[in-house]
Amino acid sequence: MLFKFENIVGTYGSREMPWNPPFRMKVYYYLIDGLLIDTGPFSMAAEGIAFFDSHTIKQVFLTHIHEDHAGMAYWLQENKQLPIYIHPDSVEEALIEPDLSQYRLDIWGRRQAFKAEPVSNTIRTDSYVFKVIDSPGHCRKHNSLYEENKGWLFLGDLLNNLTPRSIFFEENLSESILSIRKILCLNFNTVLCPHTGILPNGRELLTRKLNYLLQLQQEIKTLRIKGFTDKEIDGQLFPGPDSISQMTGGDFSSYYIVSTL
Ligand SMILES: [Zn+2]
Repeated sequence: MLFKFENIVGTYGSREMPWNPPFRMKVYYYLIDGLLIDTGPFSMAAEGIAFFDSHTIKQVFLTHIHEDHAGMAYWLQENKQLPIYIHPDSVEEALIEPDLSQYRLDIWGRRQAFKAEPVSNTIRTDSYVFKVIDSPGHCRKHNSLYEENKGWLFLGDLLNNLTPRSIFFEENLSESILSIRKILCLNFNTVLCPHTGILPNGRELLTRKLNYLLQLQQEIKTLRIKGFTDKEIDGQLFPGPDSISQMTGGDFSSYYIVSTL
């Protein structure tokens, strides 16, 4: 379904998460003044291509290289001959198609190899200047885009889940805390999230996530001082079966929350 927010046009698709049916994870496509921010996954090629073919795209920016964000980069390069900008440390990785686990292929599809350009400190369009904000946490090489005059923040995957009970093995929540603190120093309210859409109260939501993480960090610290191991702390804070961990071969786990805080 197409939507419009000021000069931003977008659409979204969704996929069911096998460990939490019938919940469907959405993926939003945002296009602003010819700049496409993330490409969506290969498994949503039909939705993506319909959107790409009906709008003018001049350049592509990727918040990070995960397949739900970069899965259509190859298609856009081949079919639209567009420059694709990514974190400088991801340029080499982009040249190789990763060997993804079956559950990732089932949900999001392939992330074919593509040739990316290293993004600099800013991205310009005809009417806007976006500052590139290095914001690791969800993964090591992750950027957000900030348009100062409009107060827009294209956040990437830092906010998705306000109170995570399980995270991906590439995530580091201590880094997320630093990135969220850095981002909260910027003058914005509206967050444009790739998975939860346009959030006019984005600042408040990010603050809530920061507080949740800080409180968890404090609890973990207290338990470590009492002599508990991270495994034991995991069992105390997140009891019960960890179905997402079982279904993803351990890629997602509550243990990573404890070990990275
Ligand atoms: Zn991601």
